[in-house]
Amino acid sequence: MSEHRIVGAESIIIDLPLRRIQRFAALGADRTAVVLIRLKSDSGYEGIGECCTPSGPWWGGESIESIKLIIDTYLKPLLPGSDPFDTIGLFRRMDRKLFGNMFAKAGVEMALLDLQGKILQIPVHDLLGGRQRSSLPCSWPLASGDPEVEIEEAIENIERKKFNIFKLKMGFLDPVIDVDRACKVARALDGKASVRADPNESWDETTCKWAIPKMEQAGISMVEQPLKRWNLEGSARVTARYSIAIMADESLSTLQDLFRISRLRAADLVSLKVMKSGGLINTRRQADVAIESGLSVYMGTFLECSLGTAANMQLAATLDDLPYGGELSGPCLVAEDITIRPARYENHELQLEPGIGIAAELDHEKVEAFRRDRTYSQHTVTTGKFGQKTAVELS
Ligand SMILES: [Mg+2]
Repeated sequence: MSEHRIVGAESIIIDLPLRRIQRFAALGADRTAVVLIRLKSDSGYEGIGECCTPSGPWWGGESIESIKLIIDTYLKPLLPGSDPFDTIGLFRRMDRKLFGNMFAKAGVEMALLDLQGKILQIPVHDLLGGRQRSSLPCSWPLASGDPEVEIEEAIENIERKKFNIFKLKMGFLDPVIDVDRACKVARALDGKASVRADPNESWDETTCKWAIPKMEQAGISMVEQPLKRWNLEGSARVTARYSIAIMADESLSTLQDLFRISRLRAADLVSLKVMKSGGLINTRRQADVAIESGLSVYMGTFLECSLGTAANMQLAATLDDLPYGGELSGPCLVAEDITIRPARYENHELQLEPGIGIAAELDHEKVEAFRRDRTYSQHTVTTGKFGQKTAVELS
């Protein structure tokens, strides 16, 4: 037991405008919201964490509003007087108090590990096994649905050395049109970039039978979660049938999910996400189990802003074998951010920032400007050439 104690905890909803419309199979979004979590120790340190969802509860059932409610009502009362180094003890108390709610628990754990790092004056990656890499190749989501716009957007990203891996968000168009669109983008980027596709559970096995061979032929290298999350048997058949890599995302939340995916060989690789798995330590455990059972791992995201992305990068830094890289590109989607130093992308890779804790520092002015519980004024937006929202002004 350490001599440190947690003396305060706070959760704040922050609304951030996006640079462009982001489409998922279930919806299109022009803004995102995160919950900022702040834990204070009696020694004067502050740990910060972020909870986020992919613009709503459609993915995992938790919403930004429910996350704040759960934290304030059930998790916050467990914290005052706790030893910030008693990570397992805190998790036991959180799990005893409420089932599931992985996103809420993950944000609290992120702030806890940041606090530990700050007290010890070490980066969080040193708490998670040590640094094996200093940067991460990341994919950029192509999500407008118009292949010409998407090709132009991809080429601009390649030329600016930001991203040379692209993930087509699919499922919001008719599958025939959608697959044609994906193949067109993949052919145009052939030899310049790696192209992947994510239908977010929107296909059935019959669709896979004609869609995947077409996409394979067009040069698409990986398909993420084509089938419903519960359909592991179907996913095992699809994985065995095609040489294209199949990745499980929605199918994986708990370690038990991972055991089943591994036993059935229901994927070639799994998308690790700190939010869906209840924190950095749980996700690190899942990475170890996946790798030891012969599955590859991938550093997934819920498009966190620079705060959550910095924490995700602390975990990614400990993973030396990421054959498909990751997708920590959320900071490039938001038009405003809440950290002083935004995430840095150089030579097509996200860079690990030096620093203690999760190596992110809050921009207090931005927090005040964008917190939902304060009257912040309306922002105006203009439309850019990719249909993005390019300018945001506070009035
Ligand atoms: Mg996905």
